[in-house]
Amino acid sequence: MKISRLLEQDKITISFEVFPPKKAEKFEAVKTASEQIAQLHPDFMSVTYGAGGSTAGFTAELAAELKKDTGVPVLPHLTCVGSSKEHADRMIDTYIREGIDNIMVLRGDIPSDGIIEQDFAHASDLIAYIKEKTDLCIGGACYPEGHIESVNKNADLKYLKAKVDAGCDFLTTQMFFDNNIFYNFLYRAREAGIRVPVLAGIMPITNAKQLSRSVALSGTNVPERFRAIVDTFADNPAAMKQAGIVYASEQIIDLIANGVKHIHVYSMNKPDVAAGILNNLSEILR
Ligand code: FAD
Repeated sequence: MKISRLLEQDKITISFEVFPPKKAEKFEAVKTASEQIAQLHPDFMSVTYGAGGSTAGFTAELAAELKKDTGVPVLPHLTCVGSSKEHADRMIDTYIREGIDNIMVLRGDIPSDGIIEQDFAHASDLIAYIKEKTDLCIGGACYPEGHIESVNKNADLKYLKAKVDAGCDFLTTQMFFDNNIFYNFLYRAREAGIRVPVLAGIMPITNAKQLSRSVALSGTNVPERFRAIVDTFADNPAAMKQAGIVYASEQIIDLIANGVKHIHVYSMNKPDVAAGILNNLSEILR
């Protein structure tokens, strides 16, 4: 099912993200965890694409098997980095052959050696290419705090509008820990003429290392309230996990209370975390 159709319905949607392994011997464990998440009946599941295309085959295999074995709509990712036109064609053909209706298109992070395939410089280039060739529903990324390479938020929004105009059917945000940043972004995006649905990306932080890694990669602001939680519970893994699930659940409840309908949870192959969040929302989502 096309995700754009799901998002048109007058209902709250919750989707989960999983990432494929880099090595074949880990595939079955990741698949089992992903299937457990699928059994929670999310509206769809996304499957990331390892940096520079390092998981291309596993992304496609995991997405196809999830769709076939669980019936949950899937959203495999694809990046410009590591994708020549021929490679992109092969990935797209695979998805169409497997009956997958959606694709999340990203530029990818520039590797430290700076070497990337030259066919698609920006996500908008690959989006326009796919839109012209196929009927796939296309997602793109957006950054409530501005993309880390952007000179300022206005420039970022200008390019985001161009990306949507190139053929994005919906956007998913980078993680944020302060909902006011998201509300402010949504207002500015709408003012800039961006009308497609925007899914709020929520990352449940379940250990302190995960927080420092995520913040280093994305530059996301960590509010004092959340920093205090991490400082207090960092050395108690079970308490940190519980606090992280509660914090993410509270963010989602506040979003829903403020009219946000579509939530994407970076569930990181953790069925217990995904289940913990849904448990906290059971009456709200009923
Ligand atoms: P773009 O939209 O191309 O933007 C990148 C930068 O270039 C921005 O600063 C933008 O303002 C600027 N820009 C855009 N167009 C132009 C233009 N025409 N001229 C000049 N500047 C321009 N990475 C992975 O490797 N695999 C994944 O599976 C993955 N999934 C992600 C999912 C989400 C929801 C998010 C938020 C990020 C994900 N990423 C993933 C990370 C992403 O690849 C990086 O953040 C990357 O640095 C930017 O990707 P993008 O698609 O936003 O790029």
